[in-house]
Amino acid sequence: MVNANVGQGTIVFGVDPSGSVSGIEPGNLDKAQRTLSQAITDNFDQPLSPEIWTETVEGKPVIHISAKRLRTVPYHEYAGRAWTRQGSENRQLTLSEKDHLRKCRDRSNYPGPWKCDRCGAVVGQLISMKRTDEGIEKTYNCNCGGQFWPAT
Ligand SMILES: [Zn+2]
Repeated sequence: MVNANVGQGTIVFGVDPSGSVSGIEPGNLDKAQRTLSQAITDNFDQPLSPEIWTETVEGKPVIHISAKRLRTVPYHEYAGRAWTRQGSENRQLTLSEKDHLRKCRDRSNYPGPWKCDRCGAVVGQLISMKRTDEGIEKTYNCNCGGQFWPAT
């Protein structure tokens, strides 16, 4: 879900796909939370920092995991592979899809068009670039105070 264009999502453990609440066995709740948190820490590259919390639904405990991809991250990999959610299926991203995401989600390599995250203005090219001792410095600031991001 974080690799899809929406860039965020929530997973609830203890609810089956039809929506009926089975819950997590209360004795296993802490262990399940720790195991999920550790699996996320160990396997995501770049690191993902989800919110994890428990809630009681229909009298049964469930675990929520909510995560969001930072706009500076083109995609996350889990255990060395990048996945995306398509409908109700998980699918591995192809090399060309990963190349595409790197190009269109990485501001330093994106050719345009750009869209302001505040006023919605669309521009074909960045407002300014200047040469510094460290290389080309690009400006992503819009006149309204917002910032330009790839318009995808
Ligand atoms: Zn603007």
